[in-house]
Amino acid sequence: MIILCRDDLSPDQRERLRSAVDGLGFRWYERDEGGRAVFETAPEADAMRGDIENLAGVERVFAGEPGAHLVTRDHHGSSTEVRIGDVVFGAGETVVIAGPCAVEGLDVVLEIATAVRAAGARVLRGGAYKPRTSPYDFRGLGQEGLEILAAAREETGLPIVTEVMDTRDVETVAEYADALQVGSRNMHNFALLAEVGRARKPVLLKRGMSATLDEMLTSAEYVLAGGNEQVILCERGIRTFETASRNTLDLTAVPLLEERTHLPVVVDPSHACGRRTLVPALARAAAAAGADGVMMEVHVRPGEARCDSKQAIVPEELAQIVRDVAAIDRALRPAAAGTTAATDTEPVT
Ligand code: PEP
Ligand code: MN
Repeated sequence: MIILCRDDLSPDQRERLRSAVDGLGFRWYERDEGGRAVFETAPEADAMRGDIENLAGVERVFAGEPGAHLVTRDHHGSSTEVRIGDVVFGAGETVVIAGPCAVEGLDVVLEIATAVRAAGARVLRGGAYKPRTSPYDFRGLGQEGLEILAAAREETGLPIVTEVMDTRDVETVAEYADALQVGSRNMHNFALLAEVGRARKPVLLKRGMSATLDEMLTSAEYVLAGGNEQVILCERGIRTFETASRNTLDLTAVPLLEERTHLPVVVDPSHACGRRTLVPALARAAAAAGADGVMMEVHVRPGEARCDSKQAIVPEELAQIVRDVAAIDRALRPAAAGTTAATDTEPVT
């Protein structure tokens, strides 16, 4: 049995809880996790859950089930707004994030970033550290890539989100980026999740390609339990028996997560389908399903992209998607549509 305490647990309440847990007569341990006291008892104590649950200072008791609570609406009923730079996710509109798969060089990233800005996207994405299936593929420019992203932010004013793959890089990436992306392949990297939980930057957590939504929520719980409540979840397609597209976009995840968690949810149609022609329809569908954002890969010359070239859309297509999701927001979520959007009518340059 795991006892998660409230963050305002008083010293007196803590003392009473210690006696109560001790009185159960089993082995127990006590620790702090992101500023909260956690008590752990032997599984034999599970039957006494009811005795503990109602004690003052107890937030939630887990008995034999995976522990995710801080991410749930039981803990936090209203939707959480997460800011990347000054861009708000979770305020009821579909925010567009766009940029190259990988940061390939200064000139091309500035070119893409300028086009992304002109198309009306609000956040720039791009990987400086790339998880690649083969070690011989281009694996990103590392720190130089972070500097290029910072230059692109300087040039365009767009906040940046970029992936961190290694606990040793979290501090450096957090110095440059406005948000830290944890990629699909690292959704189960618990050391990394704990480390970004200590960071003071928002985290964009992508769903593992074979992860259930419960697993995604418990991974997000790691970040919140570390003390970082600024988490955005990202559905990016899952592996199924279907081979016609790169993955299968699980759109059910959008309303389902909205029921279960207060965290914003965005959709990445690019990695879900793997094909440029399919991206616009999936982006529109994500907006209609209630996503708080869509993230897409864009390149000024997709044929030259060193990574994921088949799924890169061009800036003109991005501009159309920005207009389409804004129209969907106006039709389906009129109260929030346009409240934080820069514009949906800027011409493409
Ligand atoms: C990415 O967004 O750059 C990426 C590598 O995606 P995923 O982790 O979803 O495969
Ligand atoms: Mn990619």
